[in-house]
Amino acid sequence: MVNDDHLAPSLATLKPKRPTFSGNKALEISEPLLFELGRDGVSGVDIEESEAFTPRLGGQERQAALDLPALSEPEAMRHYVRLSQKNYAIDMGIYPLGSCTMKHNPRLNEEMARLPGFADIHPLQPVDTVQGALELIHECGRYLCTLTGMASVAMSPKAGAHGELCGMMSVKAALAARGEDRRTVLVPASAHGTNPATAALLGFKVVTVPAGEDGTVAAEMVREICAKHEGDVAALMLTNPNTCGLFEPQIVAIAEAIHEAGGYFYCDGANLNAILGKVRPGDLGVDAMHINLHKTFSTPHGGGGPGAGPTVLSEALAPFAPLPLIAKTEAGYRLVETAEDCEEKPFGRMTAFHGQMGMFVRAFAWMLSHGADGMRQVAEDAVLNANYVRARLQDLMSLPFPDHPSMHEVLFDESFLEETEVTTLDFAKAMIDEGFHPMTMYFPLVVKGAMLIEPTESESRASLDLFTATLRDLVMAATAGDTSRFVDAPRFAPRRRLDETSAARKPVLRWTPPSGEADAEAAE
Ligand SMILES: *Cc1c(COP(=O)(O)O)cnc(C)c1O
Repeated sequence: MVNDDHLAPSLATLKPKRPTFSGNKALEISEPLLFELGRDGVSGVDIEESEAFTPRLGGQERQAALDLPALSEPEAMRHYVRLSQKNYAIDMGIYPLGSCTMKHNPRLNEEMARLPGFADIHPLQPVDTVQGALELIHECGRYLCTLTGMASVAMSPKAGAHGELCGMMSVKAALAARGEDRRTVLVPASAHGTNPATAALLGFKVVTVPAGEDGTVAAEMVREICAKHEGDVAALMLTNPNTCGLFEPQIVAIAEAIHEAGGYFYCDGANLNAILGKVRPGDLGVDAMHINLHKTFSTPHGGGGPGAGPTVLSEALAPFAPLPLIAKTEAGYRLVETAEDCEEKPFGRMTAFHGQMGMFVRAFAWMLSHGADGMRQVAEDAVLNANYVRARLQDLMSLPFPDHPSMHEVLFDESFLEETEVTTLDFAKAMIDEGFHPMTMYFPLVVKGAMLIEPTESESRASLDLFTATLRDLVMAATAGDTSRFVDAPRFAPRRRLDETSAARKPVLRWTPPSGEADAEAAE
């Protein structure tokens, strides 16, 4: 046997798990943790020993070494590059994650965001030196108001959920200005989890509106629940198109019902991709809606960049929008930073500064490069692509709501797997072996074993053909009883099936050296 004690610990520990000597599988290189890679005494820089000095921390100084992993610069570099290559990304392939709108991030947007006039400024710079940046934020907001038919916009929220919080804080402020303390918020069962979470965070009592047989919300049901909580209904939070991928056909009557009950209508606008340039939520009676720039407006999403959740507000809620506000005057753009400085009644501040500048630049570049007709076509193509996926799969997979056309995403349930031993989870894991990111699964909760596919407009027909052909092949394997492709999946990924429940419930966030090493250290 070869004595490999001298090998880096990574190699020695990983070797037995892999069929190759190195533990690597062709160009897929196994990557241990930084802590396993590091070796005492290694460093990326030469720092001279400091001269003797008297600490001035009054006894608070650290007593032991920090225990950071010690690596050379190339080792650290390779570690992170290898990890980055294990990620799946929208730049690598289709990412059919329903409700997330994972679309291509055009490179033009990146160029614009890197212009020094946008990238190298500071939020505390004198206002007269950042007039162009303020103009861009102002114009970006004006376009969002025009597209949604709303009176005003708060640009600072930094994610969809943050935008929901902003909208609901405006509702709270508007109710307070009316001298009312209403406590109930209605949320349909098909809602995104952030909706009830936002309401609960603000101290509201969440009352669920059950979904109808057809997956949509009935205005009559909203009316009934409002009557039951008469005088106490603060708002309804509804997603449209909803998370089943369906346009709420009774949305105007729902808005009337909530307004008659004295409440406000919050619409979760994360699914705006389906109706952009087609429907203006303001015309439907919406009072507040967040827009995910990182979904509909193509700014990077997930690991690629921060989110941005501007929130548009109706006439009724506009006066309560948070600070800062940008005012256009004869002398240029003015930044309103305090309540005393304006006639409105802002409820406060959501963030230290003005929001995600880089995302505003990207979103604005996207709007300008598409134009009004291009943005309308985005919605048309997004809906077309989802319905193409539906048409290619509906004979083999089961549609819970076959009577409604799909909007920008198509929802299947697991009844087509009923006679097999394959579950929704197995099916999604088998997709990984085929080189596809799984669709959203087990959401929305209103159908059993949900599989929610959102292709977005940026997928070509060729890409959708390969995707749907692969899914067809998987369904046929499952129904033919070939369970080996599913129960063991993923078989070819760097990591096999994980215990996701334990990972979520009992996360191990701290690395401890293997006991052998710890003993050796103790003996030293
Ligand atoms: C993505 C999404 C949200 C939340 O947006 P974040 O930016 O992730 O906070 C809310 N509602 C719906 C329907 C969504 O799809």
